Amino acid sequence: MLRTHTCGELRLADANKDVILCGWLHRSRDIGTIGFIDLRDRYGITQLSFDKNRDNEIFEKARKLGREFVLQIKGKVAERSSKNDKMPTGDIEVHVKEITVMNESKTPPFTIETETDGGDELRMKYRYIDLRREIVRKNLELRHNVTKFTRQYLDSQNFIEVETPVLIKSTPEGARDFVVPSRLNEGQWYALPQSPQTFKQLLMVSGFDRYYQIVKCFRDEDLRADRQPEFTQIDCEMSFVEQEDILLMFEGLIKHIFKNVKNLDFDKFERMSYEDAMKNYGSDKPDLRFDMKFVYLDNVARGYGFSIFDNAETIIAINVKQAANFTRKQIDELTEYVKRQQIGAKGMIYCRVLEDGSLKSSVDKFYDSNALQKWAKACNAEKNDLILVLSGDLHTTRKQMNELRLEVAKMQGLRNAEIFYPLWVTDFPLFEFDEENNRWHAMHHPFTSPKPEDFDLLKSNPAKIKANAYDLVINGVEIGGGSIRIHNRQLQQQIFATLGFSAEQAQEQFGFLINAFEYGAPPHGGIAFGLDRLCSILGGSDSIRDFIAFPKNNTGRDVMIDAPSDISPEQKKELGLI
Ligand code: ASP
Repeated sequence: MLRTHTCGELRLADANKDVILCGWLHRSRDIGTIGFIDLRDRYGITQLSFDKNRDNEIFEKARKLGREFVLQIKGKVAERSSKNDKMPTGDIEVHVKEITVMNESKTPPFTIETETDGGDELRMKYRYIDLRREIVRKNLELRHNVTKFTRQYLDSQNFIEVETPVLIKSTPEGARDFVVPSRLNEGQWYALPQSPQTFKQLLMVSGFDRYYQIVKCFRDEDLRADRQPEFTQIDCEMSFVEQEDILLMFEGLIKHIFKNVKNLDFDKFERMSYEDAMKNYGSDKPDLRFDMKFVYLDNVARGYGFSIFDNAETIIAINVKQAANFTRKQIDELTEYVKRQQIGAKGMIYCRVLEDGSLKSSVDKFYDSNALQKWAKACNAEKNDLILVLSGDLHTTRKQMNELRLEVAKMQGLRNAEIFYPLWVTDFPLFEFDEENNRWHAMHHPFTSPKPEDFDLLKSNPAKIKANAYDLVINGVEIGGGSIRIHNRQLQQQIFATLGFSAEQAQEQFGFLINAFEYGAPPHGGIAFGLDRLCSILGGSDSIRDFIAFPKNNTGRDVMIDAPSDISPEQKKELGLI
């Protein structure tokens, strides 16, 4: 080895040892006749010191070294006269006797500090330098730990990891496929998997019983902070199980990860039906770190001559605790927030419960204090609370109120990244109707089983069918989702028919799966977790990019390697593209 120790491990007990360290020159300075270099590697930083009076030659040599030079040093560990209790190695320094420059470095384009001066694009272009920053390195260490403890748990539960192919056939899972032209089969295309869904089901038919894979998936969607065109799933499937078995098994996985990565314990995860989530929070992934459950004022706020409420399909309120002191400006900000084009509310009504219990609303013209008391009662509002109200058609108002609820919580500092609130959302509808294309879509995917008691509704009322499908939500973020699958050929064909596939189309696209169901398919179900999102939640960040070594930017580009890019005419010709 070119070193005896890392830059993170020397302590007072090592004083007087002769050591060899390797690392990057993080920082250097000199105070008169003493020079210092902070030498950095993956494990930490060690202070090197150079005394002009002890060795002038090496003192002068050290002064000429630039930031990020790669050094090997030999020296003796010594107790520091002024210790730094913020650094694990802060009790010691190394008196350097010999320096070898292993490689020089240009001045880096940004500082290698937690608070760096480099903007996003610059750091992405030089991601290999960005990855030297402690904060980014720690994120990848966290990710490593999450996958390590995932494998540990699943292995202990008899799951086996199986790799499935990356060059596959297009499968409809809601998103667009990335496709790859085939040279050997001119004019034909592979698709990259949006998930290994059909393969894991086939593995169940093969009898593998408990499968998992930490696997790259690809979806050609519009990008946001929490989306990447390629992302990683912890993909799992089990045979001979019911929904309850899956929820308990994977609750165990998430608990195991939180215990080992964050030393946090949880009680049994709360559960909520999709219907209740929509009714009470206007979202299928409610953030339950705070309350503000929806209150429907339909029965108490109509009939007072306020036409906006009188004509609305619904009137929804939330009670913001201890917010009556919000300033006019804060309230205006919230009103502007809900009126933004993406949210689209026409306005927001509010009512403050003052210190003396009296009520002051923005619609006092229509509602006297008796009428407002009814609002307050419905909302369980106490003094100093603030009631916010939106109205309109049911679906839209719920969605808008969900946005408002999250925004107020942010204003009040209630979205604390150190608090974790896991929640199972269950009983999703099997289908959703696509008005634009006048057809049904599978809400989860077409392999999801309806609840057996709803089989009869398949012909008469597809909208009413509930699925054996579930999502795991933590802090308002969907961390995972899955379902009990169909394992019966006829039922699967019926679902394809409802989704608008002709028998030929279904056979052409999914023949392999439908046929497999005729060779002893066991009852099975599974789930997949978004590893990048799980890591970002554990790491307290909104961006999954921080937890991916080499992420794409928000136009799907890798600005470091400059991809996507054109290919040569020869390549195109070979692929039959020109
Ligand atoms: N394949 C599904 C997905 O990617 C997860 C599952 O049903 O297991 O969302």
